[in-house]
Amino acid sequence: MNYSPTKTKELLSENEFSFKKKFGQNFIVDENTIDSIINKANIDSDTLVIEIGPGAGALTYKLSKVAKNVLCYEIDTTLENILKSNLGDASNVDIIFDDFLKRDVKKDIAKYNYKKIYVVANLPYYVTTPIIVKLIEDDLNVSRIVVMVQKEVGDRFKANVGSKEYNSLSIFLNYYYDIKKIMDVSKNVFMPMPNVDSIVLSFDKKDETYYLEDKDVFFKLVRDSFKQKRKTIKNNLRDYNLDVIESVLKKNNLDLSTRAENIEIKVFVDIANELVKNDR
Ligand code: SAM
Repeated sequence: MNYSPTKTKELLSENEFSFKKKFGQNFIVDENTIDSIINKANIDSDTLVIEIGPGAGALTYKLSKVAKNVLCYEIDTTLENILKSNLGDASNVDIIFDDFLKRDVKKDIAKYNYKKIYVVANLPYYVTTPIIVKLIEDDLNVSRIVVMVQKEVGDRFKANVGSKEYNSLSIFLNYYYDIKKIMDVSKNVFMPMPNVDSIVLSFDKKDETYYLEDKDVFFKLVRDSFKQKRKTIKNNLRDYNLDVIESVLKKNNLDLSTRAENIEIKVFVDIANELVKNDR
């Protein structure tokens, strides 16, 4: 018999498994939640799925039924027997027991044939942001990311201009992906039960995004603009060419007393491009 929540609880106890807070271990033990995530991920048999943190295999087993291959990264080696037992006949799953953040993922996926890459995971909460940032910075061309995250963190990821959650990370992520909440998840479906609420987000890669003269200039400008959230652009960007910035803001009916949280991605793009052109 392969994965089931009941079998998993037995396996965890037989193997004297102890949940490790330091690895953000809250396992899903509810079949409906697992099915909803898998259905909403919309995976087909041309897809290579990367799962970060399979835990006891709650998502992994069902992912293996719909995907071409599933490549998992699990930091906790004490889960090896439990995973083996839960994944039984799933021959298209590979598990690398290592810290995902330290891996050369491009190298790891080189041996697979696939049409697209998806990431599906219930992410460990203590490294949610570094994992998502790595997925983008490693330039893996992931077309879809479906992840369970803490509600507060998810709200920042998908924040819109003008909201209090909007920050440099939301701009970084929304530059590349369309981000939506696809599910609320109750605390009761986890073992052990966490203190906070969770949501599932989908990130869909944008076919086209804004042209940038220099990506590094853009992302540095955005980070600097949010350095002190309550301060105006003028105060946060003292070392920049404020004349150039002011003229772009003016075209958008804004001025130097605007705060970064009220500036749309497109305006930051225009400012960054003008700064680069002006430096030539
Ligand atoms: N996917 C399982 C589920 O939904 O039941 C477990 C999810 S649990 C929230 C997060 C998992 O990520 C744990 O199994 C934990 O050991 C693993 N993990 C934590 N940090 C990791 C890292 N840096 N690299 C790979 N796996 C990690």
